[in-house]
Amino acid sequence: MKILLATKNAGKIREMNRMFGGSGIEFIGLDTLEDVPEVVEDGRTYHENAMKKAMTYYNVASMPTLAEDSGLEVDALDGAPGIYSARFAGENATDGMNNEKLLSLLKGIPEEKRTGRFVSVLCLVVDGTPFFFEGEVRGRILDHPRGESGFGYDPLFVPEGYSLTFAELGEEVKNRISHRAEAMRKLKDFLKEQFGKQ
Ligand code: IMP
Repeated sequence: MKILLATKNAGKIREMNRMFGGSGIEFIGLDTLEDVPEVVEDGRTYHENAMKKAMTYYNVASMPTLAEDSGLEVDALDGAPGIYSARFAGENATDGMNNEKLLSLLKGIPEEKRTGRFVSVLCLVVDGTPFFFEGEVRGRILDHPRGESGFGYDPLFVPEGYSLTFAELGEEVKNRISHRAEAMRKLKDFLKEQFGKQ
């Protein structure tokens, strides 16, 4: 079974195919489409954004399509940046700019109150019907970045039960314990149940 993954990022496609290796499921990317429409992520929730992406590309490709929306929710900031995580410091913000903004908003907030969580919502559209899979990982936000691997807020986020950031723990550990890993596991179970695949 082939599933269209709503990304052009070759690394993400490779990673998904590794995760589902031997299962009979193959992920292909948006680069396989002739016309790739832009999707504006203007939903009010991760679910709305993920579904908008998955439905748009499903309608173009007419094949099972998977999209993700994710973000970081900080308790002391009432859940911000949330669905705005990618553009927290502005429309074309870099990871560095977003991290700086987060640090400046959390300035002076003591360690025990710097808690939050990463959230991942996957939407799989099959035959026009959306199915959702959610994952989360709780943790705390440091007052300075540490580590080189990963992306986004990884250098500031220490998952619960660990003392290193996601950027220090590295891909292998992160891919076992992350919000995305949890959502993917649920997707895998669903596909196994529905289609007899792993
Ligand atoms: P989107 O899902 O592409 O809309 O963007 C999600 C944004 O949330 C990313 O650009 C990051 O800023 C942040 N984010 C989501 N997941 C992670 C993660 O695993 N590590 C670090 N940042 C993340």
